[in-house]
Amino acid sequence: MNNKINKIGVMTSGGDSPGMNAAIRSVVRTCAFHQIECIGIYRGYQGLIEGDFKEMDARSVNNIINKGGTILKSARSKDFRTKEGRKTAFAKAREKGLDAIVVIGGDGSFTGAMIFSEEFDFPMMGIPGTIDNDIYGTSYTLGYDTALNTVVEAIDKIRDTASSHDRLFFVEVMGRDVGHIALNAGVGAGAEEILIPEEDLGKERLIESLKRSRLSGKSSSIVVVAEGDKTGDNVFELKDYVEANLPEYDVRVSVLGHMQRGGSPSCFDRVLASRMGVKAVESLLEGKTNYMVGIRDTQMVLCPIDQAVKGKTDIDIELIRVSDIMTT
Ligand code: ATP
Repeated sequence: MNNKINKIGVMTSGGDSPGMNAAIRSVVRTCAFHQIECIGIYRGYQGLIEGDFKEMDARSVNNIINKGGTILKSARSKDFRTKEGRKTAFAKAREKGLDAIVVIGGDGSFTGAMIFSEEFDFPMMGIPGTIDNDIYGTSYTLGYDTALNTVVEAIDKIRDTASSHDRLFFVEVMGRDVGHIALNAGVGAGAEEILIPEEDLGKERLIESLKRSRLSGKSSSIVVVAEGDKTGDNVFELKDYVEANLPEYDVRVSVLGHMQRGGSPSCFDRVLASRMGVKAVESLLEGKTNYMVGIRDTQMVLCPIDQAVKGKTDIDIELIRVSDIMTT
């Protein structure tokens, strides 16, 4: 297809994350800077299928850098998973004169982008927006830093209650497949134990650690548990297990839930979003397509979108060791 890019679409897709608005703003303003038209696509791929478009200029994105969520709305589209749906999406993109689309989302959204670009030879560019930090090809995803700060702040508050009443709190945080939030927020909030999907520390070890903690004079404790922790027990089953084995503990559970996804983005996420938006648009203008923008060692990088989809991120082993030492 003609490589000249005159009109770029931008959408947010999948779960929302803080920093998505800052990324939309950056894409729109970079287009304006390079005198390229920019079209906002509402509700992700579903909006593309339905032709839910809006022309955007530099002023359409005033006062959103500090806002959580996404002004373009996000959605999960069943129709886009079908060939028919994607055909309609392509026809709508063509009708609107789009030359490329920037998708801000997670690995599911990038899988959709990859399939779409392969089927229709349509230029796509990804910006990783998810609080889980589970995308290969970037050290940080948009929203992760904000979510960590939100979780640490919540645990600090829970600790006030835990210590006032000599209680043990299990705090469940997001992370079905990866423990980045649990591990980093757990270390940052000084948790006694951190249970993550990548490592089975064993329930016996948890009991031993809590016993030791009590003997060493601690009267309250915080245990951070990722949703998908490897023990296989959910946070309420863990509570029951500890109560059965350590009756002296007064145990409570707090599930942080969706509040982890909301709120005003941190400065780190705002800057990252601004840099990613510039890199995404300028890479498209340089003729690079079907990549995801990432950050490595403070530098903006591109990762082929199929690698971003197929690759796995690793947990920081050194941080697990640090966590172990801190809980001595
Ligand atoms: P999060 O990390 O927050 O879950 P995500 O981008 O991974 O975000 P998904 O719901 O997995 O969220 O994907 C978003 C959308 O991408 C889906 O609703 C669907 O429209 C599209 N998508 C995902 N996988 C595919 C696929 N295999 N084929 C076509 N489209 C897909």
